[in-house]
Amino acid sequence: MIRRDKKLEKKIAKERIEILLERAHKFKEKDISLARRYVELAMKISSKYRVQIPPEFRNTFCRKCYTPFGAETVKIRLDHGTKLIRCMSCGFARKIQYRNKRTF
Ligand SMILES: [Zn+2]
Repeated sequence: MIRRDKKLEKKIAKERIEILLERAHKFKEKDISLARRYVELAMKISSKYRVQIPPEFRNTFCRKCYTPFGAETVKIRLDHGTKLIRCMSCGFARKIQYRNKRTF
């Protein structure tokens, strides 16, 4: 029986996620379906190997339809400490707190 090197697996998974997401953003203007596929694969690898999406990519694509966000695919609204990120291709919205309410 071959022992799985989980640390190495995670390292490779993280590298693959980064490469896939970089490519997704490279191809989002040329071929949106290919870009979506890259994001989908990155998400699959992330859940299979329990590796988090790197923070610099965390809010750069839609979690529902996997569309990478660009100038025409996302709308961002700020409202009382909440950032609302809405995907323009499926309408899915995510809310992110950007200000701690207890500080004022
Ligand atoms: Zn979407």
